[in-house]
Amino acid sequence: MALLEVEDLKVHYGRVEALHGISLSVEEGEVVTLIGSNGAGKTTTLRTISGLQRATEGRVRLGGADITQMRPEKIVAMGVGHSPEGRHIFSRMSVRENLELGAFLRKDGAQVKKDTARVFELFPRLLERRTQVAGTLSGGEQQMLAIGRALMTNPKLLLLDEPSLGLAPILVETIFQVIEELNSRGVTILLIEQNALLALRTATRGYVMETGTIAKTDSAQALLDSDDVKKAYLGI
Ligand code: ATP
Repeated sequence: MALLEVEDLKVHYGRVEALHGISLSVEEGEVVTLIGSNGAGKTTTLRTISGLQRATEGRVRLGGADITQMRPEKIVAMGVGHSPEGRHIFSRMSVRENLELGAFLRKDGAQVKKDTARVFELFPRLLERRTQVAGTLSGGEQQMLAIGRALMTNPKLLLLDEPSLGLAPILVETIFQVIEELNSRGVTILLIEQNALLALRTATRGYVMETGTIAKTDSAQALLDSDDVKKAYLGI
C-alpha cells in the first residue's frame, strides 16, 4: 500500500474547476516531484492533501486511512508536514517561537526538544538567529524556517512547495542537500519545484501537471530523458 494515494481528486474555486480529477501516489521512502507550468494546479494539490483546501470529489488516503475530509490539524497529527509556498511564517515572532508553534500539537516534549536540535543542526543559520524576529530574516532564511517549522511536526510525509523559490544558487544547493538528508533519514517527500532539472535529479519519480490534470508520469530519469519534458520544462 502506498503511503499517499490521491484518487480522482477534483477541486473547485467557486465555479471554476482547478483540478479535474487527478490521481497520484507516493510510496514510503520516495522523493516524488510535481512539475508543471504556472497555474497547473500543483499548489492546489498540496493544499488539498493537507486539508487547507476542500476536495469536491475524490479521495486522499494516508497509509490507507481516508483523510479527505479531515481538518488540517488532524492531518498534521497523522504525519503530514507542509512547507507552503510564499513562506507563511509568523513575522513578528522569533525563529525559535516559529519552530515551537510547528510543534504545538505535540505532547512528547522530549522528542520536540530533539527535533528542535535537529532543525538547528540541518540549518545552522537558524541556530545563530534563533532569537531574531522572523520578519527580518532574509528570504533564504525564511524559507529554511518554513521547512524547519514543517519538520517540527515530525512528519512521515513532507510536502514542500517551491522550497528554492527566489534563493541564491548556493542556498538552493543547501536546501536540496537537506531534502536528500531528510529522505535518507526516512522522511517521504512530495516536492513542487520550478527548477524541474534539480527536482528530477533529486526525485525518484515525477508527475507532470498541465491545467488541472496529470499529463505524464514516469521515473525521474525517464522524464529527464523525455523530449516533451526537455522542451517544455528543462529549456533544452
Ligand atoms: P504556480 O506554479 O504558479 O504556483 P500551481 O501549479 O501551483 O501554479 P495553483 O496555485 O494550484 O497552480 O493554481 C491552479 C489554478 O487555480 C490557477 O488557475 C489559479 O489561478 C487557480 N486558483 C488558485 N488559488 C485560487 C483561489 N484561492 N481562488 C481562485 N482561483 C484560484
